[in-house]
Amino acid sequence: MYCPTCGNKTREAIPLGDSIPRSTCLKCGYVHYENPKIIVACIIYEGEKALWIKRAHEPDTGSWAIPAGFMERGETVQEAACRELQEETGVTLQAKEIKLYSVLSLPDLDQVYITYSAPLRSHEFHVTEEALEVRLLSQSEVAGYELAYPAEMEQMILSLYSELESGGIQTKTPSSLELRWENQ
Ligand SMILES: [Zn+2]
Repeated sequence: MYCPTCGNKTREAIPLGDSIPRSTCLKCGYVHYENPKIIVACIIYEGEKALWIKRAHEPDTGSWAIPAGFMERGETVQEAACRELQEETGVTLQAKEIKLYSVLSLPDLDQVYITYSAPLRSHEFHVTEEALEVRLLSQSEVAGYELAYPAEMEQMILSLYSELESGGIQTKTPSSLELRWENQ
């Protein structure tokens, strides 16, 4: 890569006091850090159904997903979750109205998935620029659709239905927070 500060070609080097090689500019000293990205998601439920979107964009166009997206700079995790929910489904919630559901480390994808939940208050959801369809789906309805997740994560996400059946979404205990798998 080229240094975004001075345009010089960078080299792989281990910065002083660090242990990982990073793209480094030997001219101006710029170091390019690549850290995991935070993805926020919202499980919005009504009875034993949850709100899903049919993705309008790549990746996985046409597959079904829980409303989610990348956290932006300058916002809290809860604000990010509410913003993504609004952008993808039209549902408006305040940061204080959503409850932490799970924190999922995906080290092989360099992502951290932070999921919140809240009950649906009104049927205000609608098709958006990011969703070809927005629907409340039961577990049996979801079973008939193609989902936008790797198999291991799909299992984890679908476990929300057993919680809805047993009376509501609970924040997961620390022992169940992490999931790791190898790529292919
Ligand atoms: Zn430079």
